[in-house]
Amino acid sequence: YTGKTGAQLLTERVKKLTVKQYQSVPVVVNESASVYDAICTIYLEDVGTLFVINGDSHLVGVLSRKDLLRASMGKQNLESVPVSIIMTRMPNITMCHEGDLLFEAANKLINKQIDGLPVVRDVEINGNIKYEVIGRITKTNMTKALVQIALDDFH
Ligand code: ADP
Repeated sequence: YTGKTGAQLLTERVKKLTVKQYQSVPVVVNESASVYDAICTIYLEDVGTLFVINGDSHLVGVLSRKDLLRASMGKQNLESVPVSIIMTRMPNITMCHEGDLLFEAANKLINKQIDGLPVVRDVEINGNIKYEVIGRITKTNMTKALVQIALDDFH
């Protein structure tokens, strides 16, 4: 017997959860896609955040629902405006890695006041670090983790 309280054991378990265990499949669009295409994709794929990649499949931006709503309020033709004009772009993107702890990713969502993070893998190209999008972590994943912990504890 370790002498640890139930609360200590629970804390230890929560602190071991990783991004890899809870991540979802990312939904990406190319930087040359139009705002109109992105609206169709975000709706059809039923996600809250799209990740924008370039021709080399490297992460270049993020698009939220409100980014797309804001762009729709203007008078431009949405089919002629590329997402690269309205996205939040690198290097201002908050990301995480598969091996990161889930609570650290949750902390980024809170601190940056955002709904989701791309899960990335670093690739070095001619001495520069680029990022490949391999997953997605959102508030929904956090909610699922919470429910799973509660149910595990119960059974
Ligand atoms: P919404 O704007 O639909 O409420 P968010 O709160 O996730 O959704 O996004 C708020 C702003 O932050 C948007 O402009 C979006 O482009 C940006 N954003 C969302 N996710 C990230 C991220 N992981 N890194 C940097 N910026 C992000």
